Amino acid sequence: MLSKSDIEKIKLVLAPGTNVVISTHKSPDGDAIGSSCALAMYLEKKGCNCSIVVPDALADFLSFIPYSDNIIVHENMESKAQELLSDSDVVFSLDYNDLKRAGSFGALIADSKSFKILIDHHEEPNYDGDIYYNDSTCCSTAQLVFDLIDELDDLELVDLPIAEAIYFGLITDTGSFRFPSVNERTHEIIAHFLKIGLAHYKVHEAIFDHNSINRLQLNGFAISERLELLQNGRVAFIWLEEEDLKRFSAEKGDTEGLVNKALSISGVQMAAFFRSAKEMVKISFRSKGTVFVNELARDHFNGGGHKYAAGGSSEVAIIDTIAKFKKVVEDYV
Ligand code: 5GP
Ligand code: MN
Repeated sequence: MLSKSDIEKIKLVLAPGTNVVISTHKSPDGDAIGSSCALAMYLEKKGCNCSIVVPDALADFLSFIPYSDNIIVHENMESKAQELLSDSDVVFSLDYNDLKRAGSFGALIADSKSFKILIDHHEEPNYDGDIYYNDSTCCSTAQLVFDLIDELDDLELVDLPIAEAIYFGLITDTGSFRFPSVNERTHEIIAHFLKIGLAHYKVHEAIFDHNSINRLQLNGFAISERLELLQNGRVAFIWLEEEDLKRFSAEKGDTEGLVNKALSISGVQMAAFFRSAKEMVKISFRSKGTVFVNELARDHFNGGGHKYAAGGSSEVAIIDTIAKFKKVVEDYV
């Protein structure tokens, strides 16, 4: 948590006119973009000059988040991103705790002399910075950004765009307020947003009612043709190959949530989703109860994450990746 001296340091470094770069992780999700945009809008109200740099492109549904159209994608605008970083006084790392998760932009941050502030809710931080605001019991980075604004005595600066951005992050990182990490504070924050007039239903619509027919059909195909059970129904997994994604003209984000469909089967305690892309297989893991997937992701699939939601990757063919999963999963479930 933040100490009094951290808060004083943050107040000092964020004086009006400060150049701030906010960075987040690869394949940014609703929490990554929601928390980054909320922080940028807040800091601009304080007189800072803010930029958000993300390693790679955003899924389409994230464009609902206020301020997201200002985001610089490092992959597409390398020199602009580098220039912003070299001109920065302060760099924030949001929703990740290891610069590797920010790809080649992370490597540039490592070399940067700017003041570094981490705001994150993942376990086992591996980050060399000036301020660590890391709480792995917190449901989302979005909630931590709200708490930071509160700690800095600036709640009156939270307007509707900031509330929408934070609410977007809260919904997407809590499975619509259902995960065990949701607490009284989460609902206090929502109550505050409703008091200032947040149209919460619009945010839900932006997240959940944006399906294309292709996406629905891809999801239908995955569930009917590519879902398997293991361990007497305690483990479920879904897999898709590059050709399947092409067949349904899949766009970024179209397979998001599929892993939760596998976890929703009665009796399933762990679910995985495998997707082949270029030279690698990207994997999502989800679990419940006493099964922790961050350990499995870290120990066997070059990954990590939270106890109940983690991810990783594999450099062998999808069939071999699944064979390995079938073998190692016995030690976890
Ligand atoms: P998702 O399955 O939604 O991509 O990711 C779930 C969680 O696992 C997220 O909190 C994300 O930060 C983490 N995660 C996903 N992929 C990776 C990875 O390759 N490495 C690490 N360390 N964490 C990951
Ligand atoms: Mn998050």
